[in-house]
Amino acid sequence: MSARILSGKEFAAKFKEDAAKRARALEEKYGVTPGLAVIIVGEDPASQVYVRNKDRACQELALYSEVIRLPETVTEQELTARIDELNYDKRIHGILVQLPLPGALARREKEITGRILPEKDVDGFHPVNVGRLVMGEPGLVPCTPAGCLKMLELAGIAMDGARAVVVGRSNIVGKPMASLLLRENATVTVCHSHTKDLAAVTREADILVAAVGRPGFIRADMVKPGATVIDVGINRLPPDADHPRGKLVGDVDFAGAAEVAGAITPVPGGVGLLTVAMLMENVVTAAACQLAAQKD
Ligand code: NDP
Repeated sequence: MSARILSGKEFAAKFKEDAAKRARALEEKYGVTPGLAVIIVGEDPASQVYVRNKDRACQELALYSEVIRLPETVTEQELTARIDELNYDKRIHGILVQLPLPGALARREKEITGRILPEKDVDGFHPVNVGRLVMGEPGLVPCTPAGCLKMLELAGIAMDGARAVVVGRSNIVGKPMASLLLRENATVTVCHSHTKDLAAVTREADILVAAVGRPGFIRADMVKPGATVIDVGINRLPPDADHPRGKLVGDVDFAGAAEVAGAITPVPGGVGLLTVAMLMENVVTAAACQLAAQKD
């Protein structure tokens, strides 16, 4: 293996350190602790784990945290009324609704998350924040791509003038990742399921981001020698004797690609760890903007 391994653990620790430092500075200046409210509807076990991790990260950084647990029977009106309360709650600077929402609420996801005030939208999903990102203006950016970008910066990977290829065009990962790389003056190509001769495109990439949701989809022969490969995918393989819960793998054939790439993120232990750490940064950023605006 020749590639430099970009360790999510190392970068996540740095993000948290930055967030904690900025949070303490806000406390000194305004006497206010940045606060996050997470709303979870229903009992989905994976969502429960994600919410617990977010709450724990807040405790770790001594941020204020509230978890609002609502039953699956909650109506859209009740849910949006709760969001409205949090929108006007001065202790809360960031709000997120854990997705996916259960049952009929899932079809109203856009309307429900869109109820969160843009300045408290720490997931960066609100159309106002999406617009700001595309226009290159400051705003809250979805945590996974924002974390990938900050990792590239801290790792000293040159983005200005680089050829970047993003495989995947979701609103959560692919599209914001492409906008962020463009903002850094990379020449960006976005690929998706209709892309023809994908391997020829990915082989052009100095920075290759895989956000597809298919295990081992990016093979070694699709990677340019020396490229930086960011594997966003988190896929669980069927259980086997060694992995009774199913092995976690990314979208990249790690063993093969690591022979060709210059730098690569592993799965697990890569991008997955950055997301919650970046959420902490978004909460502090949101608090800083709100507190500065209140002072004016
Ligand atoms: P989506 O399913 O929303 O998007 C997948 C994208 O991959 C789509 O744009 C799709 O194209 C594209 N795609 C599918 N098949 C192909 C193909 N054969 N060739 C080229 N492109 C293809 O997934 P997400 O963006 O939400 O997530 C992607 C992965 O990242 C998942 O494994 C997910 O678990 C993981 N993830 C990890 C996070 C983390 O914290 N590390 C956070 C969020 C996601 P089209 O648009 O044409 O359908």
